[in-house]
Order: sequence, then C-alpha cells, then structure tokens
Amino acid sequence: MIRRDFLLRILYGGSALAATRASGRVPVPNIPGTSQASAPLSPGGSDPQSTTSLPTRTAIPFPLEDVKILDPDLLRMRHQTLNYLLALDSDRLLHNFRVNAKLPSSAEPLYNRESPTNGWRGHYVGHFLSACSQMYASTGDLRLKTKADAMVAELAKCQAQLGERGYLSAFPESSFDDLELGRPVAVVWYALHKIMAGLLDVNGRLQNPQALQVLEGMASWTDWRTGRLSQEQMQRTLQIEFGGMNEVLANLSAVTGNPRYLVVAKRFDHHAVMDPAAQGRDTLTQLHANTQIPKFIGAAREFELTGDPYYRDAAQFFWQQVALHRSYVTGGNSTNEHFRTPPDVLASELTDLTQETCNTYNMLKLTRQLFTWQAESQYADYYERAFLNHILATPNPADGSPLYYLGVLPGQWKVHFVPHQGYFCCCGTGLENFSKLGEGFYFHNEQSLWVNLFFASEVNWREKGIQVRQETRFPEEPRSRLIVQAKSPARFTLNVRIPYWAEGASLTVNGRRFRPDESLAPSSYAKIDRTWKNGDRVEVNLPMRLHLQTIPDDPTLAAIMYGPVVLAGELGTKNLDPKRIYSDDKFLHGGFPATAVPELAGDGHALDKWIQPVSAKHRPLTFRTVSAARPEDVTLSPFYRLFNQRYCVYWRFRTAV
Ligand SMILES: [Zn+2]
Repeated sequence: MIRRDFLLRILYGGSALAATRASGRVPVPNIPGTSQASAPLSPGGSDPQSTTSLPTRTAIPFPLEDVKILDPDLLRMRHQTLNYLLALDSDRLLHNFRVNAKLPSSAEPLYNRESPTNGWRGHYVGHFLSACSQMYASTGDLRLKTKADAMVAELAKCQAQLGERGYLSAFPESSFDDLELGRPVAVVWYALHKIMAGLLDVNGRLQNPQALQVLEGMASWTDWRTGRLSQEQMQRTLQIEFGGMNEVLANLSAVTGNPRYLVVAKRFDHHAVMDPAAQGRDTLTQLHANTQIPKFIGAAREFELTGDPYYRDAAQFFWQQVALHRSYVTGGNSTNEHFRTPPDVLASELTDLTQETCNTYNMLKLTRQLFTWQAESQYADYYERAFLNHILATPNPADGSPLYYLGVLPGQWKVHFVPHQGYFCCCGTGLENFSKLGEGFYFHNEQSLWVNLFFASEVNWREKGIQVRQETRFPEEPRSRLIVQAKSPARFTLNVRIPYWAEGASLTVNGRRFRPDESLAPSSYAKIDRTWKNGDRVEVNLPMRLHLQTIPDDPTLAAIMYGPVVLAGELGTKNLDPKRIYSDDKFLHGGFPATAVPELAGDGHALDKWIQPVSAKHRPLTFRTVSAARPEDVTLSPFYRLFNQRYCVYWRFRTAV
C-alpha cells in the first residue's frame, strides 16, 4: 500500500519522502546541479534498471487537492468548465464505443472529430475522464466522480465485448492493420493514448480500481499488438501522430510496479525525432508541432524511471528549442500546426493559424516536469508567460468556450467553438486546462517551498502543517502578500520567484526588508530560510514596466508587454461579422479578411513617453499610445482579457527597436 501511495503521489503531486524512508531506499541525486536531499522518481525495487541510481526530484508538485484557487477570474473559468463537464451527455460520449462493441446505443452521435466515421473518435472521452478527475481533485465535487466512475463502468463493458486481449476503442481494431500496412489511417494511437491517460487519471485521482483494470487490459493488448512488429515496422508506424503513448505506459509501469509496461513504453520512442534532440540537433523544421511535444513528455518520464541520460538530454533540448527559439511572445508555437521555419525565424509567421492551443497545454506539462528536476527559474518564467498569455487568453468570458488557434495575424479576432458542438483536440485539452488550474503554482521538498506563480490562492503543505495564502490581484497589481498559517513554528526555505521582467524587485518579511543591501536578480529566487510561525507575512513587490519583445529575425516587428502581460491593440469590430466569433469547425478559424493596423513611430527605448496608462478605474493594465501611431492612436489592453473584437499583438515599428 505504501508503495502504491508513493507512486500515485509522484504522479499526482505530494510528498514522497516519508514513503522513501519506508521503502528503505536512499535517494541518490545524479542530476547535475542537484544536491538537495530529494524524492526519488521511481520505486527502484521492481524497476527494470533498479541497479542504476535513479534521478531525483528537487521540487515536488503539490496535489491539486492542496492548492485552493482564490482568484475570481480563475474561479469563473473553472466554474464554467465544471458546468460544461456536468452538461455533457454520457450516452452520447459513449455512442461510438458501444457501436464499435456491437452494444445497443440510441444516443445521438456527437460531431466533427467525434462523429461516427471520424478516425479520431473516442479521444474526447479520454480528455473528459482526465478533466472530471482533475476537477474533482480541484473542487471535491462528487458529481464529477460519479460521472467518471459510471463512464469507466460502461467502457469496461465495451472492452469485455471486444474480446479477451483488452482492446478498447471507438473504432475497429482493423484501423491498426491499416496503420501497420502503411495504408491511409487516422491518428489511432493518439486516440488510444487519450483514453489510457483518462483511465490513469480516474484510477489515481478518483481511487477507481476498475479504471486500472481496463487500462491494464489496454496496455497488454498494446504489448501484444506492438510486440508482433519488427523495430523497423514499429518505427514506421510512429510516423503517424501517436500522442504520449510512451508517457502513459511509463506512468502505468510506475503505478503498478510492472516493468513490462516500461518495455512497451520504449517501443514508442520515436528515434527519428528523439535521437537528434538527444544529440543537441534541432531537426524540427517542417514537422507537425503537437505530434512531437508528447514524445518528449514521455522521454522526460522515461528518464525519471530509467536514469538514462539519452531521455533527459532529448527532453531538455527539445524544451529549449521550442520554448526559447520557436515560440511567440505569448508562449505558444506553430503555424498551421507546424514548426514551419528554422529556429528564431518567425517574422514570416504572423498568420491567423498560429499557436494551436493543445501545443501550449503540452508545453506546460513538459515545463512542470522539467522544473521538478532542478527548479530552474527559466522554466517558471516560461510557465507564467504561456499560462497567462495563451491559456488564460482562450476561454470566451461569456461561456468559457475554448479555441483552436490563437492567431497573431494583425487585425484578426479570437474564434471560439460553439458550445457543445466542438469535439476537436483543443476542445479536449480546453476542458483539462481549466479543471487543473492550481498546477504549477507551488512546489516543495522536505526543506523548501517554491512560490512560482502570483495568483490569489492558498497552498496546504500537509507534511509541515503549514498553509501559505497569497493575497493579491496580480497581475492587476504589481505585488503579492504571502501569509503563513502554522500550527507550530517550522523551519524551511521559502523560495519566492523573482520573474525575468521584474527589475528592482524587493521583499519584506514581517515589514522588514529582506536583504536590503542586495538587489534581487530577475529570473532567480529569493530564498528566505527561517523558522516560520503563524501570521508571518511576506510582501513581494514586483515592479512592472513597459517593455518590448521583438521577433528574433526582424527588429522592426515587436510585441508590447507590461510586466508579464502581453498587451494587444484594441482594433474594434469594424467589418467583423458577430457570427464569426463562434465556429463549430476548426477550419473556419482562419481566413480572416486582411485589415490595416496602425504603425508605431514611438521610440522603442522610451516606451513610457508615448504609451500611457488609461486612468479608467475599472480598466487596470490599459494603456493608450499618445501621438505615436499612424493613422491614429490605439488602446492597448491585456491580450488575455481581449475578446470579441479585432486585435494586434505584433506591431510594425518605423525603425528598428
Ligand atoms: Zn489541438
């Protein structure tokens, strides 16, 4: 029991240190730069490579149950998603599974990617299971557990009907014949990965043993199906998008202690893409973007379970190339779903089909994982950028409806899915994004607590009997207050993130300046080591200023930021057909008529001379250019808050900035 708890907590957050001691295994840190006593990433005992010393985590995520969201906007987004999950009709979700298993179903089929003939069908059900599990963990709302448990019971019936090997899908197994024979086929492993990940979440977060049984059935079918192929045949099948099959199987191996699943996971290592990354070579140009990201999330997990540096190097290099050399100012990536250009070439890529939202969902997942290894601030900086300026910029405030592309074509607008008519991948990851909002805020190990994001929230550090509450309206105010609640005094290091954009940051502890003689460097952590007692208060001041981020290959193209916030130009609704703010088809999310947008003539080194705050009381973070834009000045407001009108993120300046 101890070990299973331990493994689930590694997957879903929480401290594993007590369990480590119980297992009698001494963690051996072997990641360069990691010297703190840390939790191991795998139990070792039954691991196929248990003789190797396994990597350790420097920072462990908190489980969703222990992070309470207090920010009213985040609460609204979560509430909209919760209602959406409750409103989804389970019989309609199950329809294709039942039809495929030759079980009766009279439900009305769903649309687009979940229609009865679509090769993706079933994938959305996996996202639904993950989202229900995460939402239950976040809110404790039992209705989600009931709904997900019932869904698993029905899926189990379909699986039993489909034969003894454990196959479970909403499409026939013959699709895998097509894949293996090189015939045209949809993303069959991708769809199965989502279902398997959903079952793993239901098992781990909802304590549902039936979900594990169904999942193990699918995994042993996967073992049988892939075990028949030569290595070359298997690698050929991996040219078709397969989601994170290596990740879910590696996780299953850790949860069950069964090394067989790790063997099967490794069959999904796509060497054509992973080998160059492990050698530090970027061969991503022209590749489909979201096909690649999950492969490296899987690689990161395989490193944790094997200690093989091949996986570590591949995951870290891939992250660096995508996050730092292939992303827009918002943290999103891709044009028309592809890495179309070489690294640091984006000026030609300001189109209406940029930044598929799934990609950022997956990049945040990879970022959280890499942060746990060494707790480096570059990961937290990227996380804040992409979470605030992409993920939070997606749901329409009226109904929480997600979107597919977050385009950066000057003059376009955000197009959302018609509620209950979109079943694309980004609708599925859209459900998940807002069911697990507390991820990435806080991390810990035995001696330390990390505060990575500044949103009103509260973390419950059970092992220490400590709660830390953040009171802030960040990013609408440039500060946060951390209030410690402690049953008894406890010594630990509070690591407060000093973001990359915060020059001149300062901290006070109970009103006294922390390190008054030192400036706190941007992109670092202020480490406050003391014995904390009930009522201790830390005030973090993070001065925000206007700054530019230029496109790497064109110094006359730049986005305007204020602190962490990407500002976008409010370009109004002229010639904007309100019917085109919603669409039920991702293919209608592009094709915007071109619009002329203002050109900026201001001095890029003295932004506050010509970009001034608008003093409207209810519109914080709103600015207007002053005699600096042609043909007319423009109002700038946070991109995450700008909906239902045309916008501009990247501006053409008259001269290099
Ligand atoms: Zn997508």
